[in-house]
Amino acid sequence: MTERDPSTPYRGRFAPSPTGALHFGSLLAALGSWLLTRHHDGHWLVRVEDLDPPREVPGAAQRQLATLAAFGLVSDEPVVWQSGRHPLYADALSQLLADGSAFECRCSRTDLAASGGIHRRCVAHDPARPPAVRLRVVDDTTVAFQDGLQGEVKQQVDRDVGDVVLRRADGFWAYQLAVVVDDAAQGITHVVRGADLLDSTPRQILLQRALGLPTPAYLHLPLIVDAEGHKLSKSMAALPVDDDAPLPALRAAWQLLGQPPTALDGARTAAVALQLARREFRPDRLPKVTSLTFAAPHNNHVAGAV
Ligand code: GLU
Repeated sequence: MTERDPSTPYRGRFAPSPTGALHFGSLLAALGSWLLTRHHDGHWLVRVEDLDPPREVPGAAQRQLATLAAFGLVSDEPVVWQSGRHPLYADALSQLLADGSAFECRCSRTDLAASGGIHRRCVAHDPARPPAVRLRVVDDTTVAFQDGLQGEVKQQVDRDVGDVVLRRADGFWAYQLAVVVDDAAQGITHVVRGADLLDSTPRQILLQRALGLPTPAYLHLPLIVDAEGHKLSKSMAALPVDDDAPLPALRAAWQLLGQPPTALDGARTAAVALQLARREFRPDRLPKVTSLTFAAPHNNHVAGAV
């Protein structure tokens, strides 16, 4: 792994996909990443990951940015939209194809059913089918990294993930490629995000190595789950966060991040709450767990949720 120079200024980011309103779990990730960035006097960037049109909801990206702004979470640099950056991903893919790290693959999901959907070698060769492009993951590829909150994480990528899709057969870029290219292009030194992406990190590190890019530091915050253990964003309880009354959700997120609720007592506006939060935040209080239960109140409002 390329070592990061500790004297490099901290650059953090929040990278939502515009698939709906910003829900409470995303707010928690945004706030956690913002607090850690501010704690290190760094730059905090927002990147819209709008590379999957079939999953996108029209207008969602603008609404997410408006929600972030209502919470005082504003990018320190112009917001980057992945949909405007195709040439960067194409260059990275060409590099990987040229040096043999990536290959065209015509296997469908059905073709891979026998190996549980995991691609280890091509089993279909129908030239009529449009190809996906995958990163070749050789046998016995174990990637380990030190997560800033979760400790050592290890994954045998060939066994657990297989060859990683970089460009889908439908022509769309895979998240894994775009996120690696953009984190490097934006000079991100610290990736702070939800623990649902913990097991994507080893393949992102492999891709960084294949592209000769530095590996940022990673910290995965607990995922907010509902009482049944479902990820909040996927469950019926996913609450749109209220732009007109940000304080209750902000307080709830602050507390779920392990910080003392009384620290925000004096705040009457989100701006003041964020100032207090920035001053009182201590990274060593972050909960070292991969999930936290959020009891969704029946009136569908975040107030009093914790
Ligand atoms: N766009 C991804 C998501 O919303 C997050 C990407 C990341 O933080 O690496 O789940």
